[in-house]
Amino acid sequence: MTKKQTLAKLQKLVKAWEWMATHYGWKFDVVYCDTHLGFPEDNISGGDSTAGLCFSKFRYLKGTIYFNLEVCSGLNDEDLEEVVIHEITHFLVSPILEAADIPVTPMEYTVTTLARIFKGLASEENK
Ligand SMILES: [Zn+2]
Repeated sequence: MTKKQTLAKLQKLVKAWEWMATHYGWKFDVVYCDTHLGFPEDNISGGDSTAGLCFSKFRYLKGTIYFNLEVCSGLNDEDLEEVVIHEITHFLVSPILEAADIPVTPMEYTVTTLARIFKGLASEENK
């Protein structure tokens, strides 16, 4: 998939899934980066293989999602959708992160699990 095709797919997927956060008052920006070099400098995880990143301020219900078009271009449609749901799910667990110093691995596992459940529920609804 070209980066241009990936961008179009990501925009469509964000539109399809943003309700998970916006319905509950969240407002967020989405930044589509050519490579990981477009990520903010305080990106502490992942490096150049990270498909997406999410920053949030729970008390303002505001955030920003960054997508790495280079990495996302290598994903199939299923995985791309999972990345989008995963990043939006980060907003939903962000109050816990602000309340405690939670290590990255259990937090990512929790976010991934929730995202898979949301995706599974949505596909059940569409049967
Ligand atoms: Zn994550």
